[in-house]
Amino acid sequence: MSASKGFSIDFSNKCIVVTGGNRGIGLAMSKAVAKAGGRVAIIYRSSKDAPQVAQNIEKEFKIKAKAYQCDVSDTDTVNATFDTIDKELGPITGLVANAGVSVVKRAIDMTTDDFNKVFTTNVLGVFNAARAAAKLWIARQHGGSIVIISSMSSQIYNMSSATEPLTQVFYNASKGAVSNLTKGLAAEWAGAGIRVNALSPGYVNTDQTSGMDEKVRAFQAKSVPLGRFAEPEEMTGQAVLLLSDHASYMTGGEYFVDG
Ligand code: NDP
Repeated sequence: MSASKGFSIDFSNKCIVVTGGNRGIGLAMSKAVAKAGGRVAIIYRSSKDAPQVAQNIEKEFKIKAKAYQCDVSDTDTVNATFDTIDKELGPITGLVANAGVSVVKRAIDMTTDDFNKVFTTNVLGVFNAARAAAKLWIARQHGGSIVIISSMSSQIYNMSSATEPLTQVFYNASKGAVSNLTKGLAAEWAGAGIRVNALSPGYVNTDQTSGMDEKVRAFQAKSVPLGRFAEPEEMTGQAVLLLSDHASYMTGGEYFVDG
């Protein structure tokens, strides 16, 4: 038996699109891809500093990175943006469908607008990005890897208040939907060499959780066996593995990175 050559991750022939790749978990994903030598296309909604974020990544890691403004819930714009990225930075080889939003309110106070806001970004937005990538790969007869950022709340409810039952019902339902979407897309696209997996974080220190009442944060951290929220970088190991060729037999899975 020959000696082991070790386990290396080299993305120098890869171009990965990260939706919401300019801050929070998405920014950590963009940097992890760049650190492995991959080209990064950052999709953002409205943050004005996103182009500068891409430039900083380009400089720090000496790879190509560019930011593209695109609302993931707008199907036509998503298709056009993926075509542009494919021409400018591509060929695209992978996608981290990360962009997501939440509305924190009691279920009894939720509105149809709240529902639309959460579901058009978290479910339709993920689908739009996944399909835009898949279209390119199917036309090219070459597969790719999609990592959908779901949440531990796809499977459980998590309390957003220490004093009353408050669970972000639309957010949790949207994450249940994308975790199931992951399995369907994986089954439909397996024959085209496209792998689709979900990564479900627990509590992570980002803008989404920064406004949280300290009592709620302590209450939630107590429910985590490791006793703390994660840093965004702690989500990247599993994502990089799933995007890499080492994960060639992994599809349709949901991987919890929840402490
Ligand atoms: P942040 O709130 O820090 O960042 C959200 C990102 O998504 C931003 O880059 C934002 O762009 C982008 N975005 C939002 N809506 C759209 C849209 N319609 N079109 C394009 N981009 C959009 O989020 P987190 O980093 O906390 O979360 C990232 C993902 O991880 C989400 O799917 C979230 O649900 C999930 N998650 C987060 C957890 C946490 O504890 N933080 C736990 C479990 C899952 P812009 O800056 O331009 O607004």
